Amino acid sequence: MAESKKTTDLNSEVKYLKGVGEHRAQLLSKLGIKTILDLMEHFPKVYISRKLSVTLGDLKPGDMLAFTAVISWVDVHQTAKGRNILSIGVSDGKVGIICSWFTYPPVYEKMFLPGRLVWLNGTITEFNGQLEMVHPEFELIDDWEDTKEDFWKNREVLPVYPLTEGINQKLMRRLIYNAFALYAGFIEEKLPENIIAKHHFLERKTALQKMHFGQNPAEIEKVRRRFAYEDFFYTQLLWARHKTFHTTKTKGIKFINKKQLTTGVYKKLPFTLTKAQKKVLWEIFADMCSEKQMSRLLQGDVGSGKTVVTLFAMLLAVENGYQSALMAPTEILAEQHYETITNLLKGFEVQVCLLKGGVYKGKEAIKKAIAEGSAQIVIGTHALLQKDINFKRLGFACVDEQHRFGVEQRAKLANLAEHPDLLYLSATPIPRSLAMTVYGDLEVSILDELPPTRKPVRTIIRPSSKIDTVYSEVRQELALGRQVYIVCPLVEESEKIALLDATKLYEYISQKVFPEYPASLLHGRMPVKEKDMIMQKFKAGEIKILVSTTVIEVGVDVPNASVMIVEHAERFGLAQLHQLRGRVGRGSAQAYCYLIEHSPVSEVAWQRLTTMTKTTDGFIIAEKDLELRGPGEIFGYEQSGLPVFRFANLVRDQEILRLARQDAFEIVHADPDFELPENALLKKIYFSQFTDKEKLILY
Ligand code: ADP
Ligand code: MG
Repeated sequence: MAESKKTTDLNSEVKYLKGVGEHRAQLLSKLGIKTILDLMEHFPKVYISRKLSVTLGDLKPGDMLAFTAVISWVDVHQTAKGRNILSIGVSDGKVGIICSWFTYPPVYEKMFLPGRLVWLNGTITEFNGQLEMVHPEFELIDDWEDTKEDFWKNREVLPVYPLTEGINQKLMRRLIYNAFALYAGFIEEKLPENIIAKHHFLERKTALQKMHFGQNPAEIEKVRRRFAYEDFFYTQLLWARHKTFHTTKTKGIKFINKKQLTTGVYKKLPFTLTKAQKKVLWEIFADMCSEKQMSRLLQGDVGSGKTVVTLFAMLLAVENGYQSALMAPTEILAEQHYETITNLLKGFEVQVCLLKGGVYKGKEAIKKAIAEGSAQIVIGTHALLQKDINFKRLGFACVDEQHRFGVEQRAKLANLAEHPDLLYLSATPIPRSLAMTVYGDLEVSILDELPPTRKPVRTIIRPSSKIDTVYSEVRQELALGRQVYIVCPLVEESEKIALLDATKLYEYISQKVFPEYPASLLHGRMPVKEKDMIMQKFKAGEIKILVSTTVIEVGVDVPNASVMIVEHAERFGLAQLHQLRGRVGRGSAQAYCYLIEHSPVSEVAWQRLTTMTKTTDGFIIAEKDLELRGPGEIFGYEQSGLPVFRFANLVRDQEILRLARQDAFEIVHADPDFELPENALLKKIYFSQFTDKEKLILY
């Protein structure tokens, strides 16, 4: 057991806590728990009530719920193959539900006994007209075998914590209890007094205790809001300071709209810009022609035409005697941009060059042209950020698929010159509430219209049992010379559910279903070079069918691909489905997206699938996604490198976000560097947490 070392510092390592020790500390670190305070801030995901909770009579398949019930019977029977199945009947006194385990540790047979009180958490399914739960999360909560008197015994409400292998619920409760028993006295306040008073928050110590030991769910929820506020408040301070910095401390380049190159190219465009493209261009031009340094996010769905908008911004810089840079996450995308842009600039005297990573013929000449300023538009990968790349006079920089880059890389690009105007492109529609917290004070432009040449993709849900009809419909598309994507979900090793695995599917498709068409497999474990080569071949039309995991490059334009088949569509998130669907429908032909579902499909998964058939609007889909899943999983959000919230939930807590934002901006407005005595606490906490982050965004 651990050597117990009494400490007054809650930031000391959790291994010193009574009952933890070296080994358990390692397990806990997988949950992000490194210090004693981390453990105290490890909040329950739900709470168990020992009272019989719901009436089971109203349940229907697809419902997800947690409830407490009494075990009425226990049964073990053998399948034909000799495997044991464990079933228990639970009841609220009137209606019964069966819970089944197809694999289970033998000890379950001894634990489940008629009359015991059990808490269950899972999704209701139906089997032969009987409501069922398969492999629910559970806890026996009557403490029969627990003769030991401890704090948790007989408590009405019990916390249920997120766990990791090797740490069970009882142990976690005990450790958290120990932490509070020994160290509660050292919990420090993190919010300024006036804020606590203003919003009638509980002080931090009491609030933390209630989160773990509270016996009244309504009160616990109220307390949780305090922690959500805390999360928001400090990040909003960061954004408020970002804004002050930009409005008072930096000056950008003031471009002049000379209407030379820009107007010339505009007149020769092979298409007319959409209304949205024009509107967005004016927003960008207004920024660039002001003294302010532009820091703008351009959000537009896949295929909404962000590249051409960027081109005009680049041309504005060029006609003012500056250089422009466009950074893309992969070589294939950089090449695509280079091609598009050189095509659109045919007949104009603009030097465009492409800079890739590695060593290759002609690279030195390109580097020289960049340094001398003769390269006016430079398109490249992160190779642009290498030390030996020196721009003579960079005036405008753009990051494509900006979420693919880390904050550090974006900061590096911005620092290639003294306050160049900056544009970030994103194809991931983000709801406003999220944009505010993820992007803080970037101005946001939205392309909410697709070019008129584009027909919306027809989206069709099909059960896996009907896959043959899908294949025969796809055969007609292939006969027309079109190309097809087939996407499978990633197989997680721990998952027991049989999933179609990309390799097997590829073999089946290429040998059995469409042997007459060239097909290829693409997955994440392939070397980058090989992936790029396959994508190139697909783009060139040499490969007709691409079977892949979700690695298909975002942003790659293959107008000839008209079919997207998503296997196990029920397992994908909405944002991901939307991104995948965006791979097709980029040409003028009608495109199709088949969402293949393999039952059982949960209620939430159904909502996702039907949302996809109802709309192609990325913003509506993003809002729905936020509502169904919560923000943590939204594509690109986790990678943004910015603060991740520990307590706040962006769906539930939008109102609190607004409060925190208002407070934070007021404080920074009145006292930008927190010099006033009443801001002393805030100053200490803010600078200890956000100094590094400030470095990344104040440029
Ligand atoms: P994304 O916003 O996904 O980066 P792109 O900039 O790659 O989209 O544009 C997708 C395709 O649409 C390109 O082939 C581009 O030439 C074309 N395009 C862009 N704007 C228009 C328009 N206004 N009318 C017709 N086609 C357009
Ligand atoms: Mg693009």
